[in-house]
Amino acid sequence: MTDIVRDTVILGSGCAGLTAAIYTARANLKPLVLEGHEPGGQLSITTLVENFPGWPEGIQGPDLIENMKKQAARFGAEFRMAHLVSADLSQRPFALNLGSETVRTRTLIIASGASARWLGLPSEQALIGHGVSSCATCDGFFFSGKEIAVIGGGDSAMEEALFLTRFASKVYVLHRSDNYRASHIMLERARAHETIEFVSNVLVEEVLGVEHKEVTGLRLQHVKTGIVSTLPVTGMFLGIGHEPNTKPFVGQIELDSDGYVVTHDDVHTRVEGVFACGDVQDRRYRQAITAAGSGCAAALEAEKYLEEQGR
Ligand code: NDP
Repeated sequence: MTDIVRDTVILGSGCAGLTAAIYTARANLKPLVLEGHEPGGQLSITTLVENFPGWPEGIQGPDLIENMKKQAARFGAEFRMAHLVSADLSQRPFALNLGSETVRTRTLIIASGASARWLGLPSEQALIGHGVSSCATCDGFFFSGKEIAVIGGGDSAMEEALFLTRFASKVYVLHRSDNYRASHIMLERARAHETIEFVSNVLVEEVLGVEHKEVTGLRLQHVKTGIVSTLPVTGMFLGIGHEPNTKPFVGQIELDSDGYVVTHDDVHTRVEGVFACGDVQDRRYRQAITAAGSGCAAALEAEKYLEEQGR
């Protein structure tokens, strides 16, 4: 363990973490940003971002992230390709175990985001990147003129299905019940689209095509009748939600039943000096601009906390 105690460590390098890095770096707190498993977060795997204010023509997600990173580095933020193995937030300063070293810090900003959820079938995992995807905006282009399936019954699934109609000749929306969580407007829009067909009450039993290294179809089971059928599609897109990246914090800070960090007064956790921002604590808006906004708030609160501690 090193003797160095940092003022601020930021966990995650997506929109929330990088905004927190810009603010804490400009406040001369010399933040250390741990880039995590998915450097750049979800924006780094999207294409054109058209709703981030200030870019009238839109900006590519990876470019937006790269710009933010440069901006934070310009003011002295330090970046490290590392991820958190475990954390001890009961001691002061906090101890962060990165596997090869332990970093100590007076404040921690958790901006570790949320990752796409998978069905968990071995055949699905084997075909990721070969017809199985969790990102329509990244991979939709490869399915021009093809028949594909989107899994899920929430807004993510509807959004993906609608987006994929730009490329695919047919988009099946497969949902495990007939009770859709999607908002009325999104559901109606998808239902009204001539390229989209809804199939309710089905579970994906198997993704077919592992031996060919490409998706050739899906084996489905009807949850009410038990009837098994094959849907001949060449792509499967997951739209079944996200998992917050909070495993190292189980038992350390308050998490809700789905694992999201519970915050009060916007970005405060129950542990003084630990703040959370972005998708790891926001299951509602999940937008780049709201993540950036909460990253800014977390940085300002960390700065205020350190000031109160006489730093
Ligand atoms: P949701 O949790 O709303 O929906 C997830 C869907 O996936 C549900 O239909 C769920 O089924 C299904 N599902 C979950 N796990 C499995 C599984 N293992 N196998 C099969 N199906 C599964 O997540 P979303 O990502 O859709 O939305 C999250 C939040 O983000 C919502 O508040 C949403 O409104 C918002 N959002 C808004 C958008 C917009 O306004 N443009 C776009 C995208 C998201 P079940 O209901 O049976 O559990």
